[in-house]
Amino acid sequence: MTSRDPLLTDMRHAPGWYAILPPPAPARRLEGRQAADWVVIGAGVTGLAAARRLAELAPAARIVLLEQYRIGYGASGRNAGFIIDTPHLTEGFDADANRRVSRLVIAGLAELEGQVRRQGIECEWSPRGHLTAAVGRRRAASLRATCRMLDAVGEDYEWVEGQALADWTGTPHYRAAVFTPRTVLVNPAALCRGLGDTLPGNVEVYEESPVTRVEPGSPVRIECAQGSIRASRVLLTTNAFVTRLGLLRREVFPMIACASLSRELTEDEQAAMAGVPDWGITGSATLRRTRSKRMLFRLGTYYRGDFRLSEHWRRRLLGMHVAGLRRRFPMLDRLEFEHTWAGVFCMTRDWVSVFGRLERGVFASLGYAGVGLPRGTISGRLLAEFAMGSDSELIRDVQALSGPRRLPPQPFLGLGIAARLWWYRWRTRSES
Ligand SMILES: Cc1cc2nc3c(=O)[nH]c(=O)nc-3n(C[C@H](O)[C@H](O)[C@H](O)COP(=O)(O)OP(=O)(O)OC[C@H]3O[C@@H](n4cnc5c(N)ncnc54)[C@H](O)[C@@H]3O)c2cc1C
Repeated sequence: MTSRDPLLTDMRHAPGWYAILPPPAPARRLEGRQAADWVVIGAGVTGLAAARRLAELAPAARIVLLEQYRIGYGASGRNAGFIIDTPHLTEGFDADANRRVSRLVIAGLAELEGQVRRQGIECEWSPRGHLTAAVGRRRAASLRATCRMLDAVGEDYEWVEGQALADWTGTPHYRAAVFTPRTVLVNPAALCRGLGDTLPGNVEVYEESPVTRVEPGSPVRIECAQGSIRASRVLLTTNAFVTRLGLLRREVFPMIACASLSRELTEDEQAAMAGVPDWGITGSATLRRTRSKRMLFRLGTYYRGDFRLSEHWRRRLLGMHVAGLRRRFPMLDRLEFEHTWAGVFCMTRDWVSVFGRLERGVFASLGYAGVGLPRGTISGRLLAEFAMGSDSELIRDVQALSGPRRLPPQPFLGLGIAARLWWYRWRTRSES
């Protein structure tokens, strides 16, 4: 990156969720030549869960967790903060696959909840449930597909519409919604930082330590910006950045999603809004009213194979987010967004993930699209168990949902994604 080409996707900048936390302790970087039993590359929720599980299973082992920026700077700290423990955005899966998703996300949420409680992690944990909402008639009809999918896996939900929905959210903007009661809302950067700060003693964390090369073998050799490390086994939990290491280039691709976080609502603004004091709505635009009295607006999803979304998009995104907020809450016409950011999530052709052994000594868990907080958490934990030779029903679930089909080569991939995004935006044009 040069100063003439600043990027909104430059992950060296903290997302809004992180910027509202107290400053962190200085980063410790990997330097010199080192050796470890296990190395985990990437400290999002997947890598944090993997490192913790390795440490539990092998308390005498030296486990090193490497992160290119700070813990909480990746997608796991940049997202909208919905921990959804029902199948979400998987209406295209059959009932058997959705039952597997269900078991995994329930286990993922339980794991996060256990850590938050045991370690006393402060992350605005709010077990409020969430609404999947529709503005237009056509979109409301498509929510019925969500209900059929939830029925097929035996999940609890509630259909909400009319005045009941307006009373809940404080706006008459939405036509209908499906309420799933067990979703938890969090500040995701605080969650990640808390998980990182409370790792077992035999996990050494090195931040600001980008890995530039992974050479499979026995041992696996890893080159970092300022050092190198050899390890018996390496777990890659790097999200779509795995392609930058020359791996999985025909299996996964990066999608960029954008969000803004407001300043704190004043007392007058809170009173004018009505509705319950904190809630979360997903749909083609995602909205939250947070426990810390801020509004989050997430809209704008783009494909950039090179991970680059220029800084000049910030103004355009901010304009979209302000307009979307005011359409729903005209009484918040003076509310400014203090932070706007972009994050990368990892897509595959058919929404299935990558899990298992990639090469000699190298394992991977990634590809959790826009719903990775519980899926990434449980899959990271299961990858640690799998790499140690375990088998379980949950491991078979995650394996059954893995193995993406190969992507078409460029330029067909780019053209195909552009066409699908255009079609999605056209169908949901009244929803933003
Ligand atoms: C705007 C947005 C909103 C979203 N909303 C939600 C939501 O509400 N709920 C939900 O469940 N999911 C949501 N998601 C998706 C979710 O954030 C991801 O699926 C999930 O965080 C993936 O976790 P991960 O650990 O696999 O990846 P990441 O969190 O990206 O972690 C990978 C880590 O690897 C590091 N890394 C990569 N390459 C290297 C390298 N070479 N060397 C060292 N470190 C490296 C990265 O810096 C990063 O920290 C959203 C995503 C975005 C972008």
